[in-house]
Amino acid sequence: MDAQVSGMTMMAWRVRRPGPIADAPLRRVSTALPRPQQSELLVAVRACGVCRTDLHVVEGDLPVHRPGVTPGHEVVGEVVEVGAEAGDDFAVGDRVGVAWLRHTCGSCRYCRRGDENLCPQSRYTGWDDDGGYAEFVTVPAAFAHHLPAGYSDSELAPLLCAGIIGYRSLLRADLPPGGRLGIYGFGGSAHITAQVALARGAEVHVMTRGSRARELALELGAASAQGATDPPPVPLDSAILFAPVGDLVPVVCQALDAGGTCAIAGIHLSDVPPLNYQRHLFRERQIRSVTSNTRADAREFLAFAAEHHIEVTTPEYALGEADRALGDLAAGRIAGAAVLLA
Ligand SMILES: [Zn+2]
Ligand SMILES: [Zn+2]
Repeated sequence: MDAQVSGMTMMAWRVRRPGPIADAPLRRVSTALPRPQQSELLVAVRACGVCRTDLHVVEGDLPVHRPGVTPGHEVVGEVVEVGAEAGDDFAVGDRVGVAWLRHTCGSCRYCRRGDENLCPQSRYTGWDDDGGYAEFVTVPAAFAHHLPAGYSDSELAPLLCAGIIGYRSLLRADLPPGGRLGIYGFGGSAHITAQVALARGAEVHVMTRGSRARELALELGAASAQGATDPPPVPLDSAILFAPVGDLVPVVCQALDAGGTCAIAGIHLSDVPPLNYQRHLFRERQIRSVTSNTRADAREFLAFAAEHHIEVTTPEYALGEADRALGDLAAGRIAGAAVLLA
């Protein structure tokens, strides 16, 4: 790093005290640039997506892993420094993606069998380590991503969590070829995942509360769009629950056809009410959770995005407006996936 960069300070947001977004839990600070470890890259942030998980970190729905953490795990930036042991996959000047998963042990039983998303030693950007609501961020080179061409920084950012986690959720939902997919909640992740499913020949039905989100769903090619608890016009082979609302689990189960699968995409879900075996589960309906993602999921999804252009609706905010962006997300005022621009 040159002397000019090492003497610099940067702007970053930190979680002062987790709590409702209306109580201003984030604080904007001026702080020294982070120093990359030998295996890491230092990245100048150009865009960072605003994910519901950031809201869960900021509002305290998730336990504190690092007091005063800087949120943000959908970073598109430029490599400005490569650690001595960071390999040669990335060079200074490269465009790079920093996503949610940033460390796994590589040796536990889950890692060894290819389920690194279940590694108990896993670490996450913007929760265990500082993330991209800042001008600079570090990332272990082994967990950094090359990004597909043909997208702006702003369009790429939401692909890095909304896109990747949505992709894993779609895999977990076991959608048969040409099958009927129900999508519950239609925010950033859902609007990307719907396009992946449509590109694979699915018939997509969207259940969501916002009228703008329903309009967006129909514009993107959904076969139908209705209210959050309305029954879809046909029984579903698969469903993905994106809304973090446990009360919707029985609603989704009742919409599933025999043998159907519901994948729950969120990291946080409010309590699920009691289920009735006959009405909600019998005839081999299944409920599955989705936990983070593997690097293989990320690579597969980013390769898909390179081959099929995904329309990403990205309301843009300045980096200095992160608190306002999260407030809009909490209030359901965002159609698509919000992005902070540095
Ligand atoms: Zn492990
Ligand atoms: Zn996320």
